[in-house]
Amino acid sequence: MLKVDCLVIGGGMVGAATALSLADLGLKVALVEAHAPQEYSPEQDFDLRVSAISLASEQLLQQLNAWQQVQNWRSCVYQRLGVWEDDIAYAEFNAEEIQQPHLGHIIENRLIQLALWQQLEQKTNVTLLCPEQLDTFSQSSNKVIAQLTHSQVEANFIIGADGANSKVRQIAGIGITGWDYQQSAMLINVKTDQEQQNITWQKFVPGGPLAFLPMPNNNASLVWYQDKAEIKRLSALTNEQLQTEVLENFPKRLGNVEVIAKGAFPLTRRHANDYVKGRVVLLGDAAHTINPLAGQGVNLGFKDVAALQNVIAKAIGSGENYHDISVLKRYERSRRTDNLLMMTGMDAIYTTFANPSTPIKLLRNIGIFAAHRAPVLKKKALAYACGVS
Ligand SMILES: Cc1cc2nc3c(=O)[nH]c(=O)nc-3n(C[C@H](O)[C@H](O)[C@H](O)COP(=O)(O)OP(=O)(O)OC[C@H]3O[C@@H](n4cnc5c(N)ncnc54)[C@H](O)[C@@H]3O)c2cc1C
Repeated sequence: MLKVDCLVIGGGMVGAATALSLADLGLKVALVEAHAPQEYSPEQDFDLRVSAISLASEQLLQQLNAWQQVQNWRSCVYQRLGVWEDDIAYAEFNAEEIQQPHLGHIIENRLIQLALWQQLEQKTNVTLLCPEQLDTFSQSSNKVIAQLTHSQVEANFIIGADGANSKVRQIAGIGITGWDYQQSAMLINVKTDQEQQNITWQKFVPGGPLAFLPMPNNNASLVWYQDKAEIKRLSALTNEQLQTEVLENFPKRLGNVEVIAKGAFPLTRRHANDYVKGRVVLLGDAAHTINPLAGQGVNLGFKDVAALQNVIAKAIGSGENYHDISVLKRYERSRRTDNLLMMTGMDAIYTTFANPSTPIKLLRNIGIFAAHRAPVLKKKALAYACGVS
């Protein structure tokens, strides 16, 4: 049986970053993942799944030596963020306002995962088990024994980074609070007439927000939030029919586009009641899924990674037993409130903008208008969203 210090279930962006960050501390790590990410080739079309990566996440990926590889492949930097409902209440946030060179990058999820995997493959203290899956596990006072589909692993503790429907969370008996949002999101990859842009924008309309994420060269990722029935209707359209709908519904500033690919995703809110239970630790979507309105999901996951690494590094540094439950609980304490705050903030925006009443509409437009003219508030909100506050 393979014996390691830490067993990580799920080798997505968060799981791979977690495994790497703990291996960097000298821990012997095993990472279990069902599907390896596809290799990169420059001829590939852009993936549908992309993320707005914050400055804080960029720092973590730099520290893990994965950032440069992603940059060598492809990504799109942006310096500005535009938000509006009525044209008169347009607010624009700029990287200069927080003395940063940019606000973030739009990057395909797979490329982040792949760059992390390349680093993992170079570590002698990491065992990558893929394709492999967690079937079940049991924990005693000092260890965890996991039954995988093809083998068994013994570890001091187990990490669930296995996404929103986390099996680790279920087997550990960790409950969740949450709900499904009435809206779904449609991701649409388009070719644009306009040159590569340095702005990401979001317009709030009665059905749900319309978002633009710039991609390299003449490409972009659009996010269309709508109620589930409307997303179902849009999903059934051909690319040509969808293109007509996009041109009719998205703001004119988008310009002419050609639809290349599309896919629909349900929106759910989930928050684990515990991030640590015995020798089980949850990170990323296994611990929390958030409305993607402000592109914070994986950024929160990467903050979890940095927090866990910090807690374990300090424990090792002070001669403590790093896998004691009291140590692992410090990670939970450092992350739970921050995640809850961001989730609640996103829900407040979602609820406020979903309300069709005229007085509420007036108030929120005044809010956007005021935010644009309140430099201190604006700077604070921007720095928080970028993870540099
Ligand atoms: C429409 C939409 C737009 C978004 N946009 C943004 C954005 O702009 N910015 C942002 O920060 N976030 C965004 N997010 C959120 C972001 O995509 C997620 O937070 C992120 O992908 C979660 O990463 P993860 O590694 O925690 O989980 P996942 O990506 O779900 O990875 C989990 C991994 O675990 C593996 N796995 C699961 N079960 C097992 C098992 N039993 N055995 C072995 N392996 C297993 C899976 O194969 C998978 O690889 C968006 C989400 C949506 C829906």
